[in-house]
Amino acid sequence: MNRQFNKNPEAFCPFCKSKIRKPAKTGLRPLSDFPSGNCDCGAVYVSDLTGKNGGEAMIEALATACDNDETRAFSLEEGPDYTMKVIGYDARTHSVTKRGHYKDGKARLYFVKLTAV
Ligand SMILES: [Zn+2]
Repeated sequence: MNRQFNKNPEAFCPFCKSKIRKPAKTGLRPLSDFPSGNCDCGAVYVSDLTGKNGGEAMIEALATACDNDETRAFSLEEGPDYTMKVIGYDARTHSVTKRGHYKDGKARLYFVKLTAV
């Protein structure tokens, strides 16, 4: 079966290419409104289902990666301390979509992986 209408690949981690679980409200970050999850490689991800809360979702992802230590999260610098990758995401089919332009209303997944120390 090779159907044209669902040719988006199943959601995967951009760091290790493993398939990921559907983001959910988990114990990773109990007070957050953003569904999140973590990959076996150490990356964490947060979904922004509206595609409009990118800044907030990035902070959530970073804080989740820091075990909810927000002070530490804000002290980190992208590059030396962590890597962030953003992918377009279709929550309905749990698949990767092509990213549209900024604030196009499409969902995104924000992945953060801390640099190993
Ligand atoms: Zn991974």
